Amino acid sequence: MADYFKPRGTADILPDAALQWQYVEEMVQKVFATYHYREIRTPIFEHTEVFERGVGDTTDIVQKEMYTFLDRGDRSITLRPEGTAGVVRAFVEQKLYGGPLPAKLYYFGPMFRYETPQAGRTRQFHQYGVEVIGSDDPRVDAEVIELADHFLRAVGVTSTTLELNSVGCPVCRVAHKDALVAHLLPIKDELCEDCQSRIVRNPLRILDCKIDAHHPVVESSPMITDHLCDDCAAHFAAVRNYLDLLEVPYVVNKKLVRGLDYYTKTAFEFVEGSIGAQSTILAGGRYNGLVKSLGGPDVPGIGFAGGIERLLLALAANGVSHEVPDEVEVYVMALSNEAHAMSVNILRDLRVVGVVADADYTGRGLKAQMKTADRLNAKVAVLIGEDEVKSGQLAVRDLSTREQILVAQGDTVAKILNILQS
Ligand SMILES: [Zn+2]
Ligand SMILES: [Zn+2]
Repeated sequence: MADYFKPRGTADILPDAALQWQYVEEMVQKVFATYHYREIRTPIFEHTEVFERGVGDTTDIVQKEMYTFLDRGDRSITLRPEGTAGVVRAFVEQKLYGGPLPAKLYYFGPMFRYETPQAGRTRQFHQYGVEVIGSDDPRVDAEVIELADHFLRAVGVTSTTLELNSVGCPVCRVAHKDALVAHLLPIKDELCEDCQSRIVRNPLRILDCKIDAHHPVVESSPMITDHLCDDCAAHFAAVRNYLDLLEVPYVVNKKLVRGLDYYTKTAFEFVEGSIGAQSTILAGGRYNGLVKSLGGPDVPGIGFAGGIERLLLALAANGVSHEVPDEVEVYVMALSNEAHAMSVNILRDLRVVGVVADADYTGRGLKAQMKTADRLNAKVAVLIGEDEVKSGQLAVRDLSTREQILVAQGDTVAKILNILQS
């Protein structure tokens, strides 16, 4: 019947569902704060170059999925497709590197990618994430991973597997890339079009190509983890050691590579089985080259991002619900125009002291209003009819005992508080 529709791949989050979102957002704030991470809010759009440079212009995100447009000043603007590039841009622009390091930051908000919508994947989607910038200490990697693990369990997702890998650094990656190209070139013609152009530019991506990942030759590719330089190997061993100390279980997945160019060393994903094919609910890793490539000093960083939509699907699959019923404590029923003048004051006075109160605004009769009070599970009803207006006294009814008393207008709030607290 409607003439207007939301754009494909977007969602209207109605009030009941919004309660779940509020719950997740509150848990992010609460849990992340205990690790001394502080929130950063960056613009939803940035200059396109921030993502071309920060995400990598060979990635699918930049090549195929960004919402990019010229603004009225002919600047190329892009709706952020992920959170890290903007946070690092802000870290550099606002000179946070001059403050205490590492900067431990988190964010929460909408992201935009032009993808085919499916369960848990929308074009406007939402992510929470952290970025820790300014330390290469493997304890930071372990803290970030343990924070993710703690958060997922605290929020109610208990059935995840942590997959861990090291994707090396520019030094060890050269050796690995050479080995990979040599291994894959003989089967170049059997790969998809994307992978044929990736084979020299970005052969790592072939390992997680949806079309070619299961080609037997691709499956037997040499792994970066077997080509780590001494520094990366020691770092990876230390991270695993700390995770063992923290009793965070993980499996090493040598096939875990990152779609984003700037990742180095530690890479990890929390995989959840209950929501089908789109099962990664949180992914992250170290990005020691990113700050410098966005014009900042050569400082290392690590972070993760998780999708709220997928998290909510996982919560539903785990039977976790944080919806609360649509309720009020007090329902005020005014039955004439004169009564409305008294009711607006009572409503205001109740709300000022923190009592959840509402009234009818559609001119319905007493019976219909009583029904609404019932549906909203009100504990107290205030009735203001002709007699009440004349006497200046209000009828206050305890809806659990059905006991009703007349109260002077000035005493109403105190009386109602008594009933609510009894
Ligand atoms: Zn290395
Ligand atoms: Zn492919």
